[in-house]
Amino acid sequence: MPSDLVIVYHRQPYEEVEENGKIVFRENSSPNGIVPTLKSFFGNVEKGAWVAWKLAEDPANPGFEKVVEIDDSYGSYTVSRLPLTAEQVQSFYHVSSKEAFWPILHAFKERYNYDPVDWPTFREVNWAFAEAAANEAAEGASVWVHDYNLWLVPGYLRQLRPDLKISFFHHTPFPSADMFNVLPWRKEITESLLNCDVVGFHIPRYAANFLQVARSLFDVEVLEREAVNPDFINEGTALTERTTPVRIGWEGREVIINAAPVGVDVDYISDRAADRATENRAKEIRAELGQTQLILSVGRTDYTKGGVEQLQSFERLLETNPDLRGKVRLMHVSVSANRNMTAYEAIQAEIEETAGRINGRFGSLEWQPISLISRAIPFADLVAYYRAADVAWITPLADGMNLVCKEFIAARTDGDGVLVLSEFAGAAIELGSAVTVNPFSARSMDSAILQALSMGEPERRDRMTNMRKVVKTYDMACWSRVQQGLFNEISTGKKKSAA
Ligand code: UDP
Repeated sequence: MPSDLVIVYHRQPYEEVEENGKIVFRENSSPNGIVPTLKSFFGNVEKGAWVAWKLAEDPANPGFEKVVEIDDSYGSYTVSRLPLTAEQVQSFYHVSSKEAFWPILHAFKERYNYDPVDWPTFREVNWAFAEAAANEAAEGASVWVHDYNLWLVPGYLRQLRPDLKISFFHHTPFPSADMFNVLPWRKEITESLLNCDVVGFHIPRYAANFLQVARSLFDVEVLEREAVNPDFINEGTALTERTTPVRIGWEGREVIINAAPVGVDVDYISDRAADRATENRAKEIRAELGQTQLILSVGRTDYTKGGVEQLQSFERLLETNPDLRGKVRLMHVSVSANRNMTAYEAIQAEIEETAGRINGRFGSLEWQPISLISRAIPFADLVAYYRAADVAWITPLADGMNLVCKEFIAARTDGDGVLVLSEFAGAAIELGSAVTVNPFSARSMDSAILQALSMGEPERRDRMTNMRKVVKTYDMACWSRVQQGLFNEISTGKKKSAA
């Protein structure tokens, strides 16, 4: 049976594990994260499908199950798996996406690596995704494509199936034309996106940047612009915009441009926080710390996350404030997700070296200034650390949204704790009550962490109350409502009601 909603996302929507020699598809252990949220949209349609890739030793192998039927708590849906060879994965994902697009999306021109990109492979893989989606979609169905590694899918889909409603959501920042146009494939990518019915971003700045790029390459008209929701204006900070394009026109087509920040599942996180085991774990952590203040930093090992810059700030803090030695600890969680990539190995090594140097310089038998953790912490444990921390120190140099800071706030049902947040994280436009910091300025970094460590309880509680209100209002369910509204709008032609 053809599907009314096809979600195209590079990852499969479950964990594929072997149990007693048999492959089983297990629902993601935690409902936290984007995949379960996307799957929940299948609850609104009669039949849903998901398109992802899967590594295949030999794509021609008749044993490769291309289409599997899943029945889980989100309903029953079809998953089409594109068999990609290791070479295709390396080229499409590790090289084109991570070495060429990723640095440009996050405005690191100097890290952009053009030479190894094999554009025909990128096209071929995107074409395969588009074909699989076209095969699953019912007449007039909605297809929802996710993220930059599938940039060419909308254009191909429009050729294959002009009847479809095509939406695209960017999970990363979208850079200005000066930056984006470094990509030689700029026209092909932008033209593909202009074939969508909806192009979605986290925040108005990324929408504005997309419009700027589109206008630099095509005759694009702004049909409607609106004032930015005041809740998304953090006065004077780097990513704030005051108006945002909502409808643009190109070659007789209309494209809705939407900005809606992805949120977190506040109820789920509150439940985890209230869990007896989490509570006990948080108490244990606090008891071990005694009077020592805990600064918590959590992120992936990636140059965009500013891990080294943060450690350097911590080193300066201990250098210039001898009274803090022995009284503060930094738990720096930097999870290496891309072990086989040189750029990430180099960052990991630099983080380890810097943390080692700081521990060597200032540590003693009784006190180690930094605990560096490179493996992923299970979410339940992470919530215990969120609860136990005095300060969450989240200072990416560029970050599409950043969910860690929102999870920290959601976990603080006790109403205490300080968030120090980079103004270059998308979340900063919503979190005006965080201690906002510019990670490119050593002075700003150093004074923000000092301010956070010395903040009195009334101010901490005041700021946390404001931030909890925002995180609760713009939670994951709110984002889903906005997206559902957009699907309804493009299929009925009627404008969405406000979220
Ligand atoms: N995370 C986790 N364990 C860890 C570190 C991170 O479960 O040790 C999760 C974290 O809870 C969050 C996600 O990984 O949900 C990171 O999302 P974010 O938007 O902050 O950053 P991204 O990695 O997507 O750039």
